[in-house]
Parts: sequence; C-alpha cells; structure tokens
Amino acid sequence: MCIFCKIAAGEIPANRIYEDDELIVFKDIAPIAKIHLLCVPKEHYARLSELTPAREAVLARALRLIAENAVAWGLGEGYRLVVNQGENAGQSVQHLHIHILGGERLGWGE
Ligand code: AMP
Repeated sequence: MCIFCKIAAGEIPANRIYEDDELIVFKDIAPIAKIHLLCVPKEHYARLSELTPAREAVLARALRLIAENAVAWGLGEGYRLVVNQGENAGQSVQHLHIHILGGERLGWGE
C-alpha cells in the first residue's frame, strides 16, 4: 500500500483537516509555503492520464471543496494548486494529489 493509501486508511498518522468518503486533506509533512496542504482522492491512481468519468467527478469536487474552504483554511488572500506529474515534475508519491500552497506571497519564475 502506498503512503497516501495508508494515510487514507488511517494506518499512519497525518495532520488531517478534512475527510469524507472520497477525499482527504492533510498538512504536507515538508511544507514549502507557510500553508501547504495536500488534497488527495482516496482511490489509488498516480496520473491524470488514468482519469475516468468517476475520478474526474471526484477531482472536480476536490476543486470546489478547496474553493469553499479557502478562507477557513487560511487561504483567503489567495493560493496556488499544483499537481506534479511524473519524473520531470519530481512527483515523489505515485498517488494523485493536489498541493495547496498559500499563507504568504508566492514566488513565480524568480
Ligand atoms: P509530490 O512530490 O508532488 O509527489 O508530493 C509529495 C508530497 O507528499 C511532498 O510534498 C511530501 O512532503 C509529502 N509527503 C510525503 N509523505 C508524507 C506524509 N507522511 N504526510 C504528509 N505529507 C507527506
């Protein structure tokens, strides 16, 4: 079982801030911004190329969940979503996840 499947199954701890039957949101263990959350579909798959209509619906819901909770999660001044895919992006966990970055002014191309 991959590390995010273990977190979803409650087998290893994580600093969870939201959970339902399809999605989990927890704090990244090695934050690269003042606020760094991960929004993870509980179903295991690694790539956007593996999307199906059902997975697509969960991801769309993930985006709405993030938007609806942005203020509550301290992201009211703005945030950035990142989905690393594959080797060149440095994807280190092969279970699809959305990075949610914010809580400060984020650099871009500097
Ligand atoms: P990526 O490089 O896009 O695959 O992102 C994987 C992210 O998962 C990294 O930012 C890691 O810091 C984070 N991570 C790895 N293990 C854990 C964990 N046990 N709890 C929380 N975040 C984790």
